[in-house]
Amino acid sequence: MYLKRIEINGFKSFASRTELEFLPGVTAVVGPNGSGKSNISDAVRWVLGEQSAKSLRGAKMEDVIFAGSLSEHRKQFAEVTLVLDNESGTVALPYQEISVTRRVSRNGDSDYFLNKKPCRLKDVLDLFMDTGLSRDAFAIIGQGRVEQVISGKPEERRAVIEEAAGVLKYRHRKKQAERKLSDTEANLSRVDDILYELG
Ligand code: ATP
Repeated sequence: MYLKRIEINGFKSFASRTELEFLPGVTAVVGPNGSGKSNISDAVRWVLGEQSAKSLRGAKMEDVIFAGSLSEHRKQFAEVTLVLDNESGTVALPYQEISVTRRVSRNGDSDYFLNKKPCRLKDVLDLFMDTGLSRDAFAIIGQGRVEQVISGKPEERRAVIEEAAGVLKYRHRKKQAERKLSDTEANLSRVDDILYELG
């Protein structure tokens, strides 16, 4: 699986629709300080479901929308689409090419799309979990991340290894199952109470 293309529209410094094509192999993005290089990797993390405005170097999520410049008005929405080559079948969808889109508006609307069909954030997170491309994986290693892993707590380091080993998905599902089980137990005890009151 590899990133073929990214389309950025109204996201951070990308005021108008910008398309970047990536070929297999190494691509280097070069440019002066402040020209928007890191905004490209921010865009990738954002589409994959990043929820923390701070980790996208903003104060609130609206800060990802182009804020205007001397020559251009601010934009009302930001939209980013990643197009991935999935010939290897890494992502569990029967398509050779997968597109993921996220769109957010100033009025607070937030939408996700998989191959142009509306979906939930959860669908995007589930799909990419354990592929190495999920929100917290290592496809993107930001400044300071290596140091964070080396000097992090044992549990944090364990999470890194679990993501790499592909077991995070099962840990996540186990947690969900445990939550459902405890909800069901609470319901059962409520039913017991009612039966007791009736009987
Ligand atoms: P460096 O080489 O210094 O790390 P860079 O090329 O990685 O720089 P970025 O950090 O990607 O640059 O981009 C910073 C630029 O993006 C700044 O000029 C900032 O004003 C602009 N920017 C960030 N958010 C927005 C926004 N919402 N609207 C308009 N411009 C924005």
